[in-house]
Amino acid sequence: MKSKHKCPADRNSPTRQSPVTSPNSPPNVITQYSSTADPLRVSVENCQPVISDGQFVLYWMLAQRRVTDHFGLERAVEWARKLHRPLLILESVTLVYDYASPRQHMFLLQGMADNASRLRGKPVTYYPFVERIPGERGDLLRALATLACVVVVDDFPMAMHRDLIRDAARDFPCKLEAVDSCGLLPLRAAEITFPTAFAFRRYLQRTFRAHLNTFPAHDPLKHAKLPALKLPEQLRAVWPPAQPERLLAERGWMRNLPLLHSVEPAAMSGGSTAAEHTLTAFLTRKLSHYADDRNDPDMDWSSGLSPYLHFGHLSVHRIFRDLVKQEDWSEGKLSTSVAGKKEGWWGMSRNAESFLDELITWREIGYNFTHLREDYKDYSSLPPWALKTLAEHCGDKRDWRYSRAEFEQAATHDPLWNAAQMQLRTEGRIHNYLRMLWGKKILEWSTSPEAALEVMIELNDKWALDGRDPNSYSGILWCLGRYDRPWFPERPIFGQVRYMSSANTARKVNVKGYIARNGGDRFL
Ligand SMILES: Cc1cc2nc3c(=O)[nH]c(=O)nc-3n(C[C@H](O)[C@H](O)[C@H](O)COP(=O)(O)OP(=O)(O)OC[C@H]3O[C@@H](n4cnc5c(N)ncnc54)[C@H](O)[C@@H]3O)c2cc1C
Repeated sequence: MKSKHKCPADRNSPTRQSPVTSPNSPPNVITQYSSTADPLRVSVENCQPVISDGQFVLYWMLAQRRVTDHFGLERAVEWARKLHRPLLILESVTLVYDYASPRQHMFLLQGMADNASRLRGKPVTYYPFVERIPGERGDLLRALATLACVVVVDDFPMAMHRDLIRDAARDFPCKLEAVDSCGLLPLRAAEITFPTAFAFRRYLQRTFRAHLNTFPAHDPLKHAKLPALKLPEQLRAVWPPAQPERLLAERGWMRNLPLLHSVEPAAMSGGSTAAEHTLTAFLTRKLSHYADDRNDPDMDWSSGLSPYLHFGHLSVHRIFRDLVKQEDWSEGKLSTSVAGKKEGWWGMSRNAESFLDELITWREIGYNFTHLREDYKDYSSLPPWALKTLAEHCGDKRDWRYSRAEFEQAATHDPLWNAAQMQLRTEGRIHNYLRMLWGKKILEWSTSPEAALEVMIELNDKWALDGRDPNSYSGILWCLGRYDRPWFPERPIFGQVRYMSSANTARKVNVKGYIARNGGDRFL
């Protein structure tokens, strides 16, 4: 487990009781706490006190960029109520994230515009901030932290987020709590990783019931009566709050920023409103096709929710709630079996169960791995059988070999692969099923599996709206054997790693329309 330093008991918790860390619990997890927060979700990140005469409680909206169904915001509201202080919400767009581009910036700003409008008239102060110079956000945060009683931030199991939280814990003069709103299972629920989805499913089936009672409130601000805050003029002068609507309308301001300008905004809109519409459209029109037809690239029956989940514009709890309402489901329908079966456990329709297997089993196994393993995106994190077989076949002859630039330009001999890469470049996504083929072919056409991993990570993180997510690396490393088993007969280059081919894909699903729509045959 990744280690954080332990903090002594804190006299200033909202209940004015000392939170107690049990000797058997993971570091910094408060196990005794008469608060509404699930102790598994709250991690104390430093040993600083709550500053009782601070000006406000600061909620740093780092990863869960929404205002509903949100443990982090709920926790910040709880602090503000207990301390009788205003609540300040800081949401920022920085220039220092991997492959920063107008595509990601626009998606984030659309989310900010929604949050600004949803928070209008609420008893909180929303501070949207857009960096003009790399690193400005850090200065603003430190300035705010010196005025705050306590800071609450979103926990997120990626190195970039963890590093930011670690630096903040060191620099802030007040208490910093990281709150986990990532999944239906708290990140700290499992203390081990799982070799297969089957093993994780079994774990889930044993433990899931306990987490059904700890859903976040839909609207954490509903009954909040908090004092008003006037932001100090000096802060506003040095770090002027952004006007997201204006920035969305006049995009010229981005031109001189250090962004990858070739990665242009995608047509898909960001933000909680677009996310909720996408969810409703999926539940009402697409779910009934999900189990049987979602692999058909012509029809696109999957939800399209991954970018919203990645940026936290929509919570997995909200998706689950809406789904169970539609399914008229209750806890009593859960099976008592813990055999790890994919179907029949939830007691829902076949389509709903199939969707939940992706949304919960596959999504959360990736969060589990990223939380517990610092090497989550390293080649060496593959299971031993995959490392061995890939090494044995590393020297195999390749009929086709492409450079990183050729892959990026979608300039291979294979129209289906090119179409998938073109979809990634223009739409910021690849159809669900073809994403697997996309990765498998990069393995087949690269000089080595290590080189393939680098290309996959770069192209996915740079162009995909849902990139730089725990599931980016579980998906990419799945192409090289993670969460899978050995397959026989062994094949050149792949060895025992599962093989996929465009010809087989074309036999299973109709790809002609997909290739034509995405210009996959433009070089042929
Ligand atoms: C090479 C490769 C790269 C990938 N990169 C990413 C990425 O950058 N970001 C990302 O979120 N997912 C990634 N995935 C996983 C998966 O392809 C996407 O989550 C899915 O295609 C998103 O489309 P959707 O929202 O319509 O999915 P749906 O089928 O509607 O599923 C609902 C949700 O379940 C989760 N989910 C579905 N399939 C998977 C899966 N196989 N693994 C993990 N979670 C899943 C996602 O959160 C998704 O939004 C990758 C897979 C591969 C093979």
